[in-house]
Amino acid sequence: MALKPNNLHVYNTLSRSKERFEPLAPPFVGMYVCGPTVYGDAHIGHAKSYVSFDVIVRYLRYLGYNVRYVQNITDVGHLTDDADQGEDKVERKARVEQVHPMQIAEKFTRSYFEDMDRLNLLRPDISPRASGHIIEQIELVKAILARGHAYETGGNVYFDVASWPKYGKLSGRNVEEMQAGARVEVAAEKRHPADFALWKRAEPGHIMQWPSPWGMGYPGWHLECSAMSMKYLGESFDIHGGGIENQFPHHEDEIAQAEAATGNPFVKYWLHNNMVTVGGQKMGKSLGNFITLKDAFKKWDPMVLRLFILQSHYRSPLDFSDEALGAAKSGYERLRTTVDALQKRLSPYGQKIFNEITASVKSLVPGLAVPDAIVVHGLPETVPSNVNKDAIRFASEALMQFERAMDDDFNTPTALAAIFDLVRDTNRLVSEAPQSVGTLCILDIAFRQMAGDVLGLVFEVDSTVATGGLDSEAVSVMIDTLIAIRNGARKDKNFALADDVRKRLDKIGIVLEDTPEGTKWRFK
Ligand SMILES: [Zn+2]
Repeated sequence: MALKPNNLHVYNTLSRSKERFEPLAPPFVGMYVCGPTVYGDAHIGHAKSYVSFDVIVRYLRYLGYNVRYVQNITDVGHLTDDADQGEDKVERKARVEQVHPMQIAEKFTRSYFEDMDRLNLLRPDISPRASGHIIEQIELVKAILARGHAYETGGNVYFDVASWPKYGKLSGRNVEEMQAGARVEVAAEKRHPADFALWKRAEPGHIMQWPSPWGMGYPGWHLECSAMSMKYLGESFDIHGGGIENQFPHHEDEIAQAEAATGNPFVKYWLHNNMVTVGGQKMGKSLGNFITLKDAFKKWDPMVLRLFILQSHYRSPLDFSDEALGAAKSGYERLRTTVDALQKRLSPYGQKIFNEITASVKSLVPGLAVPDAIVVHGLPETVPSNVNKDAIRFASEALMQFERAMDDDFNTPTALAAIFDLVRDTNRLVSEAPQSVGTLCILDIAFRQMAGDVLGLVFEVDSTVATGGLDSEAVSVMIDTLIAIRNGARKDKNFALADDVRKRLDKIGIVLEDTPEGTKWRFK
């Protein structure tokens, strides 16, 4: 697929400004997003984060970029305390449940993908696990040590923050502030309180441990992301995403590790999504307002949740409440009813003719194929008389507004507004008069492209009226034949048969109308 000319701007946390998106080697885009630590079921905070990055990947692909999307699975090294203290989260859960840590990791990795599948997320191209990349992580520590930016003490290896003046460039923190805020006990073994662990010595009883040049141990949490992102995307790549709460220390440390080891710039664009609040309060296990996706799905359709998330910008906090979900539900119903009605009207034409019509109408609305060439008010030179010109205009305008919104740092609330404008216009057009197949196709494709391909919303199609592969001409001939049979029956005063024919057609969504010019038919 050719790269569409575009005007995409993204907000880069590194520069604290919106920048024109120019990947290092177009049309390729390397994108890494910090994945889950698999010691519990995913919650709605995860949904917000991963739906947001899913839409970013989808839009980049829509623009024609060849995206390699990497999202890690943290199964070792993530401690309960960010300051290199506390217990490994996966090991703690395993101890409580009296199983092997890998059982916990396996169970919640599956659970995570199950939930993300229900939200219709595209699977990452690569889902590397920290425990499967110990060699790469050890090599990275060696490289940092060799360049003099780390030190070993008693089987632990720490990054030497004082040797790295750029430390703090992402989060805007400076090392002096970190010193003032640090706790005394944390600093005991470290040269500087802000130094962070690259490699941790395994304490007795620690299950997840590996041999290393510094003794038996395990990697620090931040290390895996630097090691695995560079393994699959190269030393310098385009986009790194993650939660705003991970800007510091996690992402700051990722940058320091990678750049100290390679001497090259690590990531060009840093994208951070905001968090979910519940009734205005930060969501947390200790606060008792923690909502897992499995619980949320019992009450809400995953697509309603997806729409709800996209109704706010990824960089804005999202407040979860029953009222807000209720509003998202009615929005989704409205959209689904319109898309459903279009597809219901189109389905009798069968897949074959549908594909042919799809191909031919794509050329009528340039935006459906080439966004930069959208003609907003001007219409294509030759529009078949059976295609409603208003439909072309409505679809073109919606597409243009949609792309303009998505180009502006993936502004999904505004993009959704364009889709709902098209819902309104479509409902009006369709209720005014029966529309031709070409007209319905244009509208249907526009919805599927914007709401389906890019925003990832799925609509269940009522397939009961589908004819499965018959072309429209065959359908017309069949219906005309049935009408002739019915009229013959009426002439013969066989009203039972005439009525039966009418009912049978009605059942597959075809209405007969007797007019002075004869019997006409239309789709319901
Ligand atoms: Zn990470």
